[in-house]
Amino acid sequence: MPELPEVETIRRTLEPLVVNQKITAVEILDRACVGFPDPQSFQQRLACQRVAGLERRGKYLIWELTRQPQPSGLVLVVHLRMTGRLVYKRADDPPDRYRRLVLRLENGDLVEYADLRRFGRLWLLSNDQEYAAAIKETASSSLETIGDGGPKGLWGLGPEPLAEGFSASYLQARCAGRRATIKSLLLDQEQIAGVGSIYADEALFRAGIHPARPAGTLDESEIGRLVDSLKAVLAEAIAHRGTTFSDYRDGRGQRGAFYDRLSVYGREGKPCPRCGSIISRGRAGGRSYRFCPQCQK
Ligand SMILES: [Zn+2]
Repeated sequence: MPELPEVETIRRTLEPLVVNQKITAVEILDRACVGFPDPQSFQQRLACQRVAGLERRGKYLIWELTRQPQPSGLVLVVHLRMTGRLVYKRADDPPDRYRRLVLRLENGDLVEYADLRRFGRLWLLSNDQEYAAAIKETASSSLETIGDGGPKGLWGLGPEPLAEGFSASYLQARCAGRRATIKSLLLDQEQIAGVGSIYADEALFRAGIHPARPAGTLDESEIGRLVDSLKAVLAEAIAHRGTTFSDYRDGRGQRGAFYDRLSVYGREGKPCPRCGSIISRGRAGGRSYRFCPQCQK
């Protein structure tokens, strides 16, 4: 599943290609990928919008739209979930086998949304505060009508781990008294935005912390190491344009190069890069994790 570094890489590769371009037409090949509103309204409202900016929040990609000269007040929110891809293509490039939706651009090129497993969603939302609040209120009671809880997940996100707001004192406050494992806390999007299993496992390895430790048992120095490790591994992964196991591609259809730099994730049965012990796999709190039994306590 694409995590923060992969979505950030997609954002960086797409941004120079789509910002200031007008979306001339929207083709929906699979109605299930449109989370909100209904596919027909989605198509009509998105056509003729100009891309004003491309942002990221957690694992969400946020297209800021304008209908010059007035701001349109609309944003296109994309969550790739397991196998979604958003790739910029020429009109005559071969379509992805799992193409679900196409944004045609005024220069003749297109952005293709493809998704093998079909868990990804696109929402066209008003960025008006009142409307956002209304969506938030209805989110828990009618997930189906507003689109699979995607907007709900977006509104409830915790701080960005690479921002200053994510600090040792912040994490310490979140860990205090918690019996849930530190791994599950790292994956909780309401506590920290954008971290998934790959980078949680890698950060815990670098910090020398066992993933199944109850969060409340971490001391101050461990929490400091964990915050530093998480920021470092995310920044390195972005610099290497993300991790590709099979499905993830950047905004130009290229694979990420961080795979070769993983220490524990996907390396069960292989030697620990630090001590040579065999990397193991465990399970706690409904989450599996990979770790070095020697290096992580
Ligand atoms: Zn080790």
